[in-house]
Amino acid sequence: MRLALDQWTREIPVVAERGLITARDGEVLVENDTAYTVFARSNAVKDVKATSETLSTILQIDAEILENKINGRKASEITLAKKVGKESVEKLSLESLDGIYYSRDNLRRYPNADVLCQVLGFTSYDGAGTTGIEKYYDDYLAGKNGEVLYETDLVGKELNGAVATYVPATDGYNVRLTIDYGIQTVVEAALKRVAQEYSPSSAECIVLDPSTFEILAMANYPSYDLNEIPRDDLDTLNALSRNKTVSDIYEPGSTFKIVTAAANLEEWNRGNKSAYSPSRIFSSSRTRSVDGTTVKCWNNHANGRHSNQTLAEALNNSCNPCFTDMALALGTETFYDYLSAFGFGRRTGIDFSGEAYGLLLPETAVRNCDLARIGFGQTVAVTALQLACATAAAVNGGYYYAPRLVKEIYAKDGYVAYTGGANLKKQAD
Ligand SMILES: [Zn+2]
Repeated sequence: MRLALDQWTREIPVVAERGLITARDGEVLVENDTAYTVFARSNAVKDVKATSETLSTILQIDAEILENKINGRKASEITLAKKVGKESVEKLSLESLDGIYYSRDNLRRYPNADVLCQVLGFTSYDGAGTTGIEKYYDDYLAGKNGEVLYETDLVGKELNGAVATYVPATDGYNVRLTIDYGIQTVVEAALKRVAQEYSPSSAECIVLDPSTFEILAMANYPSYDLNEIPRDDLDTLNALSRNKTVSDIYEPGSTFKIVTAAANLEEWNRGNKSAYSPSRIFSSSRTRSVDGTTVKCWNNHANGRHSNQTLAEALNNSCNPCFTDMALALGTETFYDYLSAFGFGRRTGIDFSGEAYGLLLPETAVRNCDLARIGFGQTVAVTALQLACATAAAVNGGYYYAPRLVKEIYAKDGYVAYTGGANLKKQAD
């Protein structure tokens, strides 16, 4: 017992171990490196020369350098070596050198290098969550440092033969994500292939379970190796570490037609006579004139001639004029009710910092020519996450949940501190 206490008290400060981050299947995405920093309290070192020589053998540092460091400043903690391996620290503890202590460093290690890098985020040099999941769930991951209390004299000098009291650290909770590691790696590989073929400046992808809004994959290209964070180049770091699927907005274009079609069908189901039934035929013209502006279809479609279409055919052809017709038939007030129900123009509430709101024209400012374009995804800006959630709600019966990245937060002993269930925000009524 006496020996055990001696060893514990040599570890200062008593650093809490940060929690792990894993995928839903347990694949470890973020873990800790067991490295230590070795300190000296020069006042408490009895024989500086002998101590320096012992340390020199174990740490492979020149004895004279160590001696100078210990003699250099008095009555404070002097860092002698950083990133010292566990083996060396064990040897050190056997020597029981007076005035020599060590602390565990909070160094993060990423076994899968760049996988999920923008979502995981990273910590600062002193181990605090700075971005991503590391930031959002920092309170859980960090844990609480313990303390070693020494008896000191009035000027803070440690007393000879002082008794130390050890307050143990509480380690951080582990965080289990909703991410499916297999799907994530497939998605990232697909983005890399897309980038090779089309050379875009960036590419993003989200895979989301429409029945729970759990995020199964969330990927941004280009990525970077979290083990080599470019901390000295802030522009590069900001560009590479940004989770654009949540933080950036863009004009969705044709992908938005799902929303227009869903709003139209729901209104038709409710007996709105202006809405288009599945069998009603859209005008065969390739253009529409709205407020003196012209909406033109991108194409003559497969048969080489712009012809009559049903709603299903309009979707299949991605025919802009048909979606203009639907938006205008619903009118601004009704269409905006649906845009709001589908979550556009506000945050989804995902458990991630820095979410963008998207951009909707104020309802009172919408002219018919604007409404016509919103129908096929122009004059509106969304995040990729908003669009993924809206699409999921369009096909799951109208349920809109808060999307989640974390499935469970638990302690090392198995105690579960948090379970992320589906959180219903809105159902089509
Ligand atoms: Zn068309």
